Amino acid sequence: MSERRRVVLLGSTGSIGTQALDVLRSHRDDYEVVALATGRNRALLDRQAAEFGVPAERTLLAGERPGVLAELAALPDADVVLNAVVGFAGLPATVAALGAGKRLALANKESLIAGGPVVNAVRRAGGGEIVPVDSEHSAVYQALRGGTVGEVASIVLTASGGPFRGRTPAELQSVSIEDALAHPTWSMGPKITIDSSTLMNKGLEVIEAHELFGVDFDRIEVVVHPQSVVHGMVTFCDGATIAQLSMPDMRLPIGLALGAPARLDQAFGPVDWATLGRLTFETPDLEAFPCLSLAYAAGRTGGGAPATLSGANEVAVEAFLAGRITWVMIAEVVDEVLQHGTGNVDDVDDVLEADRVARVRATEAIEKRGAA
Ligand code: NAD
Ligand code: MG
Repeated sequence: MSERRRVVLLGSTGSIGTQALDVLRSHRDDYEVVALATGRNRALLDRQAAEFGVPAERTLLAGERPGVLAELAALPDADVVLNAVVGFAGLPATVAALGAGKRLALANKESLIAGGPVVNAVRRAGGGEIVPVDSEHSAVYQALRGGTVGEVASIVLTASGGPFRGRTPAELQSVSIEDALAHPTWSMGPKITIDSSTLMNKGLEVIEAHELFGVDFDRIEVVVHPQSVVHGMVTFCDGATIAQLSMPDMRLPIGLALGAPARLDQAFGPVDWATLGRLTFETPDLEAFPCLSLAYAAGRTGGGAPATLSGANEVAVEAFLAGRITWVMIAEVVDEVLQHGTGNVDDVDDVLEADRVARVRATEAIEKRGAA
């Protein structure tokens, strides 16, 4: 390749960030890392900068000065921005990258979910593009090469079911933080791991799919597939389903998001058919995992509802991880906050306000539950 693609990596010290550097490490002829940012861990950030030759002034902790993420995401000499920040904090980077016409390799689903209509408007106006890093959406992105968007009958997102698959609502009353963090197939950051245990992650991904692919909620299905080998599927109008299979390894979708439409010349998680065994599929248990229904409802309501859902969930997950509420209360808190009603979002300020209000209400809902 004559010119190397210049990559800005936001959230470089996290699960996705470090796996992205792993991909970039073995493709130095094709990619140059031009900026790095994270929330904390200056020591690791400095080691990463030294290894990839990133100048000190482009190696930043988000708290060091305001607007760091937006500034780095819009750097004139960047081609691809990989947003691997966790949570709503990733919104400024998503908006800035798309506004500046960049390729946005998007792991930070929360920004697209909360800001959907606003982010898509910026994407259209700024000429930027989003290539999903989330494995299910990467699978759908790949399957869509098998037909046109107009030919899509439905999108199918697979869910591992998380550590509590098969448990009854009664059994879920007393699960511990440690149990919830023990994901059966993926090793990920704590927030998304808890979201996977409640199926809120899948609910967020339903909204993410709607925003990415423009398919209405009636045509987005979720199916539980405990082996996490089929990552996503598209069923077309003639009845054909195209699926993407690979062993769970995020480096595959990360590499595709960086290089698309080209595929990496290195295989991550190829299936060994001789040892694969059975692939199974079942419907999700909506009674045990109400977060999935809450997300569908918020997605259908639209406006500020997805931002409210996502913001309240972030606060509830933090409270659960801090031992302040039980696992079942995560869904209760989100539900209660959504009951207050949600307004419209016409611009980024509206999104920020919807998130802010959701956090205040979630904090109240948590305190009301007698949290210490
Ligand atoms: P993580 O907790 O492991 O890492 C998060 C990163 O974001 C860290 O580098 C942290 O320092 C940084 N960060 C946190 N707050 C920040 C802030 N305010 N400003 C700048 N940086 C900040 O999380 P993760 O598992 O890597 O997930 C990152 C995103 O990718 C999430 O949105 C998650 O839903 C999504 N995702 C992750 C996986 C996975 O396998 N880990 C899979 C699919 C999607
Ligand atoms: Mg996913």
